[in-house]
Amino acid sequence: MVRFMNVNKSYGKLNVIEQLNFDVAEGEMVSIIGPSGSGKTTVLRTLMTLETINDGVIYVEGKPLTHMAKGGALVPADERYLRRMRTSIGMCFQSFNLFPHMTALQNCMEGPVQVLGLSKKEARERSEELLHMVGMIDKRDQHPSRLSGGQQQRVAIARALAMRPKVMLFDEVTSALDPEVIGEVTNVIRKLVTEHNLTMLMVTHQMGFARDISDRVCFFFGGKIEEQGTPSELFGNPQRERTKQFLSAVK
Ligand code: ATP
Repeated sequence: MVRFMNVNKSYGKLNVIEQLNFDVAEGEMVSIIGPSGSGKTTVLRTLMTLETINDGVIYVEGKPLTHMAKGGALVPADERYLRRMRTSIGMCFQSFNLFPHMTALQNCMEGPVQVLGLSKKEARERSEELLHMVGMIDKRDQHPSRLSGGQQQRVAIARALAMRPKVMLFDEVTSALDPEVIGEVTNVIRKLVTEHNLTMLMVTHQMGFARDISDRVCFFFGGKIEEQGTPSELFGNPQRERTKQFLSAVK
């Protein structure tokens, strides 16, 4: 579903992603863990086309994300192609980024109406169903300022899902939350894993959560995958010294 092929990304002289080769299969839940500055968020941002890569190709469903094939070569894609590819990826951030002047329901309806061209009726039905799924239907008419952090994050998840993305990205979605509301957000993500066969890529500092819900966990170090495996392999029997050091420091 997602493939990074020999991807490099640098900021000036700083190489943040180095020769990354990485696949996420359809329906797979992959967590990325690793020390601060190891490039975890940058991986997600390149997939969202929020960052341009220096080399390599990222594929989503077999199609290059930012380039299109022309005469046997890859050329930079036009705006129309980019827009279509971007809608196949949904992302939730640590800061929820809801539109403050819109209600929870309006936040969810905005993308489907404006970007996908759905009728208001269709967008409302889809949004209400998702707000129900994340346990926020009762708050559909509230503005974000009237919602707790956990509630805002659940609306943000519903809003991203309303675009029916092929891949969902979660970037430290619980980091800005009070401990007592973290569970309500992780439960929604857990539900997406168990009840909906979504392809997901998640950056997290919550090792217990990554261990619980992932099919595969990747440990990033210095812009590369240092080690990866099933949660029981990576957490239960790490092979690399750096992985062992990191895991013992975060326990
Ligand atoms: P954290 O766990 O702290 O969020 P991370 O593993 O997600 O870290 P990234 O945010 O991907 O790390 O950043 C990787 C490196 O790139 C860091 O050294 C960071 O300072 C640098 N970096 C990130 N964004 C930029 C930018 N826009 N300009 C310059 N350097 C950047």
